[in-house]
Amino acid sequence: MSKPVIALVGRPNVGKSTLFNRLTRTRDAIVADYPGLTRDRQYGTGRVGKEPYIVVDTGGLSGETDGVDPLMAGQVRAALDEADAVLFLVDGRQGLIPGDEVIANYVRQFDKPVQLLVNKAEGYDHDIANSEFFRLGLGEPMAISSAHGDNVAAAIDKVLELMPDKSHIEEDFDLDDHPGVRVAVIGRPNVGKSTLINRMIGEERVVAFDMPGTTRDSIFVPFERNGKPYTLIDTAGVRRRKNIKEKVEKFSIVKAIEAMDDSHVVILVIDGSEGLTDQDLTLLGLAIESGRGLVLAVNKWDNLSTDQREWVKNELSFRLRFADYAKQHLISALHGTGVGDLFKTVDAVHQAAFKRVSTSDLNRVLEQAVLDHQPPLIAGRRVKLRYAHLGGLNPPRVIVHGNQVDKLPDAYTKYLVNVFRKAFKWVGTPVTIEYKASE
Ligand code: GDP
Ligand code: GDP
Repeated sequence: MSKPVIALVGRPNVGKSTLFNRLTRTRDAIVADYPGLTRDRQYGTGRVGKEPYIVVDTGGLSGETDGVDPLMAGQVRAALDEADAVLFLVDGRQGLIPGDEVIANYVRQFDKPVQLLVNKAEGYDHDIANSEFFRLGLGEPMAISSAHGDNVAAAIDKVLELMPDKSHIEEDFDLDDHPGVRVAVIGRPNVGKSTLINRMIGEERVVAFDMPGTTRDSIFVPFERNGKPYTLIDTAGVRRRKNIKEKVEKFSIVKAIEAMDDSHVVILVIDGSEGLTDQDLTLLGLAIESGRGLVLAVNKWDNLSTDQREWVKNELSFRLRFADYAKQHLISALHGTGVGDLFKTVDAVHQAAFKRVSTSDLNRVLEQAVLDHQPPLIAGRRVKLRYAHLGGLNPPRVIVHGNQVDKLPDAYTKYLVNVFRKAFKWVGTPVTIEYKASE
C-alpha cells in the first residue's frame, strides 16, 4: 500500500530539480495556486510510469572532498536512508568528473538499488553519451533528457524494477476492513501530536496496528467516539512508544506523506506558542498537494497570554490566507480544550469531501456563476462554459466543458471554485476544476 520512495542524487546543475518537476508535474495543477509554498520543493508525489511513487530531491551533494565531509550532510543521509531506490544523475554534456565518483562511492554505501542516469542527452547518441559512465561501476547507465522528457518514464520503471519485491510481506492491517473516517495527525516534532492523539482516543482501550516493513510507517489506531468509528493514523508513534519504551519517533516527511495518502482528513498540528516555521509550511504544502480534507490545530493555546493570542491569530490568518479553506482550531491538547470541536470539524470536512453533487445542481450553479460574471473575451471571442459534471470526490473535482478554456485566466477559476465551494458547502477540502475543450 505504501508508495516506493525514490531519491534523486547528483552534483549541482546536473538537472535534479528539472527531473523532480517533471516527475511530480501531475500534482502541480493543485499546488500552482499556492505560490508561497512551491519555492523550495524537495518532496513530491507523482506517476509518469506504471506506478505512483514519492520522490525526494536530495539537493546539495557537491562531490568535493575538502573540508568537513560534505557528503555526510545529515539531510542527504536521512533521505537516502528512507529511500527504496536511488536515481543518480550525471551531466552527459560535461562528461564524467571526479565529483561524480565521490558521490558514486557514497551512494554505494547505502546498498540500495541505483539507476545511473546520463542527463541532457537530447540530440546525442545515447550509446556514446553513456559509454564513459560505465566506469562508475553502477551498472548500465541510461541516457535521458529531463528537460525534454526523453526516457524519463522508462527510467522510473527501470528503477522500480530494481527494487526488491515486497508483495510477499503480509500486511496485518487492511484499511478497508475498518469503516469510518481515517484521520492522519501530522506536524513537526514537539508540537503536541502525541498529546493530542492520546486526548482524541481518550481512555478507550485500543489495539494499535503496526505495519510490518520499515520504521517509517505510521501506526493505525481504530477507535470509536460517540458510537462512530474512526481510524487514527499516528505519525508520532505514540502507541508504539507505549510498548517499546525507549523508542523515540524520528520525524520523517515521507512518513507524513504516506499517512496523508492513507487518510481522508488531515489534522496538521502547529505549535501556537512558536508560530509558523518553515517545516510547518512544508507540511502544509504537502497537505494541500495531497488533496485531502484539512484541519489546522493550533496547539498549546493555554501557553499564551491574551496579547500573544491576538498576535498569533493575526499572524496565522495572514500567512495562511492561501489555505483559507482549512479551518483553524485553537486548542490545548494538554488540557483537552477545543478537542471536541476539532472532531466536529473532522466530521464536517469528511462529509464535504465525499458529498455527491448532482449534475443538474452543478450546471445550475455554473449557469448562475457565468451570468453573474461573464468569462472574459479572448481575441474578440467570449470564452463559453457549456456544462459541468463531477469528475471525482475527495477532493471534489469539477469538469467544465467549453471553448477556449485553456485561455481562461486563473482568477476566473478561483472565482468558480469559490462559487462552487459556497453553493455545495465544500468546507475544509480543496476543490479543483478541470477544463475540457469542446468547440
Ligand atoms: P540541479 O542543480 O541538479 O537541480 O539542476 P537543475 O535542474 O537546476 O538544472 C541545471 C541546469 O541544467 C538548468 O539550466 C537546466 O535548464 C539544465 N538542464 C536540466 N535538464 C536538462 C536537460 O535534459 N537538457 C539540457 N540541455 N539542459 C538541462
Ligand atoms: P509530538 O512530538 O508532536 O508528539 O509532541 P508531544 O505530544 O510529545 O508534546 C511535546 C511537548 O509539548 C510535551 O512536553 C507536551 O507536554 C507539551 N504539550 C503538548 N500539548 C500541549 C499543550 O496543549 N499545551 C502545553 N502547554 N504543552 C503541550
